[in-house]
Amino acid sequence: MKTANMKTVNLDQLNLDCANLGNANLDQTNLNNINLNNVNLDNVNNNSIDSSNINSSINNSNNTIDFNNGTPVTLEEVLQAKEQRVIRQQMTISRYNSPIISLTLVTPGAVKRSPITDYLFRQSILEIKNALAIRQIPILSQQYIYLVTGQEAIMAINHPALQLKQLCMQLEVDHPLGRLWDIDVIDPLTHSAISRSQFVAPPRGCLVCGDNAKVCGRERRHTIDELFAAMTKIIEHYHATLN
Ligand SMILES: [Zn+2]
Repeated sequence: MKTANMKTVNLDQLNLDCANLGNANLDQTNLNNINLNNVNLDNVNNNSIDSSNINSSINNSNNTIDFNNGTPVTLEEVLQAKEQRVIRQQMTISRYNSPIISLTLVTPGAVKRSPITDYLFRQSILEIKNALAIRQIPILSQQYIYLVTGQEAIMAINHPALQLKQLCMQLEVDHPLGRLWDIDVIDPLTHSAISRSQFVAPPRGCLVCGDNAKVCGRERRHTIDELFAAMTKIIEHYHATLN
């Protein structure tokens, strides 16, 4: 199985080869040479992460949800990654002239990539693609990028930007794991992310206390352990509903 059928994506097909993606396409000194096609799901091997293992280990033991199981990164690295992400977003908009979904995960703490965030990333992609497929919304391109600073997906979508943003906000609210996803929609007209404030929607709630997440984050109201505990609870709750 070398290619993924976009319409019938399952977990196995989303087992991306992270190492290859990183090395081949994310040389930061050479961004102009990124070939968007090379980061498409179609061209990715299926041999790196076994999601069934992650699923069973999550089901078997609470201890396996470890948000520290990875390489810590610095704030500077996170900011650099953000800069590079913006460049990729703009390249994708220029190429497809359509709204794009830019997905990252909610990852407090210094470790941004771990087996559990790989799992969360896969689940978010699955749900986004499902939501698009059932509405027959075409995906024009998809890039999945695995960095030590966190996983990223950029998808060009043939659909009005505001409607797309609404759909993504709905996913974030409705799906049990949605609070751990950060799904931006970039408008090709303004080249910037559509703000939640354009909709009648409350700001995102804090993982721990439910207040405005931005305020809690800015004021550092909660410890990292409190945040991890809240995230663990969300994931365990989701798995309980699956069983
Ligand atoms: Zn809070």
